[in-house]
Amino acid sequence: MTQRLTRARITAVDTRDIRFPTSRRLDGSDAMHPDPDYSAAYVILRTDAPDGLEGHGFCFTIGRGNEVAVAAIDALRPHLTGAELGAAPADLGAVYRALAGDSQLRWLGPDKGVTHMAVGAVMNALWDLYAKRAGKPLWKLLADLTPEQLVALVDFRYLTDALTPEEALRILRRAEPGKAEREARLRAEGYPAYAASPGWLGYSDARLASAARRAVAEGFTQIKLKVGADLEEDLRRCRIAREAVGPDIRIALDANQRWEPGEAVAWVQALAGFDPYWIEEPTSPDEILGLAAIRRAVAPVKVAAGEHTANRVVFKQLLLAGALDILQLDACRVGGVSEHLAILLLAARFGVPVCPHAGGVGLCELVRHLAMFDYVAVSGTREDRTVEYVDHLHEHFTDPAVIARGRYTAPSVPGFSSTLRPESLRAYAYPHGAVWLAERAQGVA
Ligand SMILES: [Mg+2]
Repeated sequence: MTQRLTRARITAVDTRDIRFPTSRRLDGSDAMHPDPDYSAAYVILRTDAPDGLEGHGFCFTIGRGNEVAVAAIDALRPHLTGAELGAAPADLGAVYRALAGDSQLRWLGPDKGVTHMAVGAVMNALWDLYAKRAGKPLWKLLADLTPEQLVALVDFRYLTDALTPEEALRILRRAEPGKAEREARLRAEGYPAYAASPGWLGYSDARLASAARRAVAEGFTQIKLKVGADLEEDLRRCRIAREAVGPDIRIALDANQRWEPGEAVAWVQALAGFDPYWIEEPTSPDEILGLAAIRRAVAPVKVAAGEHTANRVVFKQLLLAGALDILQLDACRVGGVSEHLAILLLAARFGVPVCPHAGGVGLCELVRHLAMFDYVAVSGTREDRTVEYVDHLHEHFTDPAVIARGRYTAPSVPGFSSTLRPESLRAYAYPHGAVWLAERAQGVA
């Protein structure tokens, strides 16, 4: 670590309200969110480093309320402006505890909701900054840390009945043999992805069928369908999708929290003839016992959840309750990389595969790093693991997600791939960017 690196300070915390008018084309439409405008409450951490080093991060939201997430990031500014950047990434464990434990802000959580998402945005921006400074993509920066350094990043408070620091060390040490070989395989082969774009609820039957066939032709081995608005429609759409992809492609279903637990069981059983691989978010994300009951009732269909799970403590509950077959970590919901690491370790401890939530804006860019790190240094396997992929909005990022033959390729650019292009930041600024001025001129916003 050079002298310059230890001396950098954060000089400014810039926030932006960035929104994409995706609701116009029903991209992202599901049973609970028929009109999302994918948005980012965006933060840029500026420093006094001579090379202009910056860290970029964001909360993902779906439109209204993005300004609330921006305000929550702004509320963290006193912790950040003027702060000296430590020499080693392991220092970020203490930064996380300071942000998440702010003695007044924590009243708005703790560890949940918009203030926690803001902590996640800032922590991810810090990790972006550290990875850029180290000249490594984030997954590689994390994979190169020692088990002891990784454990130092984790806040074990409220976890120790399920995961102690000693157990975490054991998990990480167990993964050390073969790391170099897995890294080489990752660079050569990428990481499995599945296609969520074909199944938006607002798409026509013809569009569903053609998108499902195209996904298979592109090399995906799993697609996903939104369900839960109308059973007759779901039966028809599942039939169309199954006919389009054939018997060997996995079809996941996503109800986006639509059902009561009993209703979920009946609905999934009605669709079971189409051989769904998992049912995602069948009920409220907080319905831990209900998810466990659904899981027992719909097996062998798997239960997947986690994109709305607020923190490591709730994930621990879900795992202890036997409520999950598939853990869907979200890169922007929980408190940034340090808390992701805690959740990856919990999942490894319980032997539950992590299939991260992605899509939205920037989630594919971010979460691939965490899945790849997990493969190299935590779980040590890609078996039954797959990262969601949606082919929207990547062009706005300086280091966009790249898919080849149904797999995410390993990022090579230093950082967390969280940087939006300057021209996109200008054009999609809400409410006065050029795109939104044009929308209003057409009378649609
Ligand atoms: Mg989902």
